[in-house]
Amino acid sequence: MSAKLTGYINQTEKELVEAYQYIDEISFQNHQKVLKAFQDHKVSEYHFNGSTGYGYGDIGRETLERVWAQVFGTEDALVRPQFASGTHTITVALFALCRPGDHLVALGSPYDTLLPVIGKRSIMPGSLADFGIKYREVPLSGDGKFNKIDLLAALDEKAKVFLIQRSGGYQWRQALSVSQIQDIVKLIKISFPHIKVIVDNCYGEFSEIEEPGTTGADLVCGSLIKNPGGGLVPTGGYIAGTSECVSLAADRLTAPGLNGEVGASLTSLRLMFQGLYLAPHFVAEALKGAVLAAKVFSEMGYKVMPDYKTARSDIIQAIRLDKPELLLAFCKGVQMAAPIDAHAIPEPVPLPGYDDGVVMAAGTFIQGGSLEMTADAPMRKPYAVFLQGGLSLAYIKLGIISVLEQLESIDSHSKKRGVI
Ligand SMILES: *Cc1c(COP(=O)(O)O)cnc(C)c1O
Repeated sequence: MSAKLTGYINQTEKELVEAYQYIDEISFQNHQKVLKAFQDHKVSEYHFNGSTGYGYGDIGRETLERVWAQVFGTEDALVRPQFASGTHTITVALFALCRPGDHLVALGSPYDTLLPVIGKRSIMPGSLADFGIKYREVPLSGDGKFNKIDLLAALDEKAKVFLIQRSGGYQWRQALSVSQIQDIVKLIKISFPHIKVIVDNCYGEFSEIEEPGTTGADLVCGSLIKNPGGGLVPTGGYIAGTSECVSLAADRLTAPGLNGEVGASLTSLRLMFQGLYLAPHFVAEALKGAVLAAKVFSEMGYKVMPDYKTARSDIIQAIRLDKPELLLAFCKGVQMAAPIDAHAIPEPVPLPGYDDGVVMAAGTFIQGGSLEMTADAPMRKPYAVFLQGGLSLAYIKLGIISVLEQLESIDSHSKKRGVI
């Protein structure tokens, strides 16, 4: 590793003291909240044992779900290894709450993998559109702003479900803060109390003191191979929310009548408890790394979203590279700094659910686990890369240095930028 680059990173960090302190404060409060939930629900060693077969009377699973609900500020929760991914949890929530003839309204364009679920472009068999659920969007700008009049104009008696994505996903926009989400939920519920609100919470968990479960939203969904799995959970997802809506989601995940009473936890429980316990810490490391990356890459002359001073509501750092070769070099740098498959060179591939080819730099212990340091980049203009995760700030620094080396080797401008 270049001593010059390491020196530069260490120097840059001196300007991030305040930003780091802010993250530590949030992390401390989240640690407190998680610990209290474990103690309030008397988590014990026998809760790790897990069930087999139908999974009836799984006291460990039930305790985990009560702990989860408390941490996420909701009445109830489903936390299951049977959820295949974050997309699956949001799909279950949508199908649980939408009925034929209902309208679904989203704020901004939902995450790529949800477009086939909605049937946004074409009526995919089995999509919401195929079941007669109409869809529309309220425009959302890059700074997370929207027009209240547009939003209210999109709602009526037929609108039954409103979808809010907290994180920017693969879009060039800031994450919505929990307080912004609260304002949106209030605005909707005052005029249209019958509308149920679903929040896609992927990448947002523990980046703020509050979670969207406290905003009056009906369901909050996320993946366990992202923030709340603490980098340890090998698979699964969660849906938290009101008892009524979680019960509908449980019926959709299993079968009507079976509800959440079935679903063997097998050997998943210990890591789910432990991952939740550690999540506030690892999310804080990831947030610090994101802030550092924002500072470094903006100094290098690239556009970043958000900048290092902005309060965050997710762990994603977007960096605009403008050229496909820089995007590939960036991802190569991330891959080269990974503990697993560091020798592999990332290339764009078509992925199920995504329209454009996607480059994914991910040398992770959990396949696609993105609380570990990863970089995703859809091969489309403006060739932005979405960097997230890293289980320790030190590993993220090593990753950033590796990326700088790769960019330097092909971008003659980066030297002219005269930073280093
Ligand atoms: C990752 C993500 C999803 C989908 O999660 P998968 O686990 O990849 O299916 C949905 N929404 C957002 C904002 C995400 O970041």
